[in-house]
Amino acid sequence: MDLELKGKRALVTGSTAGIGLAIARRLAIEGADVIVCGRSRKTVDAAVAEIAAAGESARGVVADLSTAEGAAVVLKQEPAIDILVNNLGIYETKDFEKITDEDWRRYFEINVLSGIRLARQYLPGMLERNWGRIVFIASDAALMVPPDMIHYGMTKTALLAISRGLAERTRGTRVTVNAVMPGPTRSAGIVDFLKSVASDPDAPLEEIEKEFFRKERPTSLLQRMIEADEIANLVAYLASPISSATNGAALRAEGGTTPTIV
Ligand code: NAD
Repeated sequence: MDLELKGKRALVTGSTAGIGLAIARRLAIEGADVIVCGRSRKTVDAAVAEIAAAGESARGVVADLSTAEGAAVVLKQEPAIDILVNNLGIYETKDFEKITDEDWRRYFEINVLSGIRLARQYLPGMLERNWGRIVFIASDAALMVPPDMIHYGMTKTALLAISRGLAERTRGTRVTVNAVMPGPTRSAGIVDFLKSVASDPDAPLEEIEKEFFRKERPTSLLQRMIEADEIANLVAYLASPISSATNGAALRAEGGTTPTIV
């Protein structure tokens, strides 16, 4: 299937590793003009090199998108884009009593405000050109907030609200805004997370993963980690012109962890 992405300018945040890198690589393979984004020149260059090793090209921008200055740096380098994938997000487990005011603010700034700022910068241009795609990477934690990740769940539920609200502003245009909810996905950041909830953090990763699904995610129908490429496939579809009838949606790629029909 041709995703018709050739020449479309696509910015993917938090794309030096994990799900973001998989999305950037997939969009590049589909012919998009991809911009990788991360906080250091070294990791951005490494991500661009990894995409080049897959036979594709991408360019990079170095910016800390948890700040307004970072968003301004990206806008200066890339004044107009067609596809914005707000993937940047951090996560950890923490007891509610131990989540400080500073934690709440940090989670809001990195996971929510980073995407708001970029959408505010780029949505008007998309509406003006009458084509564009914004995809927010939320989480199954948006619907089933883990009791030891309430600060994280709060940010991901917020993304569903923002995504739907922005989609309302696209009425009658060829711009769409959607959210994707991954479930537990193999990525750079997930290993520390899995160890933090394991009964034996030093056990082989395979054992830790098995225990995680048995104890922490028994509702998963997959009962295995999702690969980052499996999330990238859905995002590439949503970024494509062929997904034109899907707007304002919150789509699951969580392996069935959420046991509700809608
Ligand atoms: P990851 O932890 O592997 O990190 C990916 C990128 O984020 C890297 O480029 C890293 O440099 C950057 N990053 C990390 N901390 C940062 C910070 N403080 N400021 C700026 N950049 C930072 O991420 P992932 O597991 O691939 O997750 C990507 C997105 O998918 C996140 O929004 C996450 O919430 C969401 N998600 C992940 C999973 C999962 O199981 N991996 C599940 C559901 C949703």
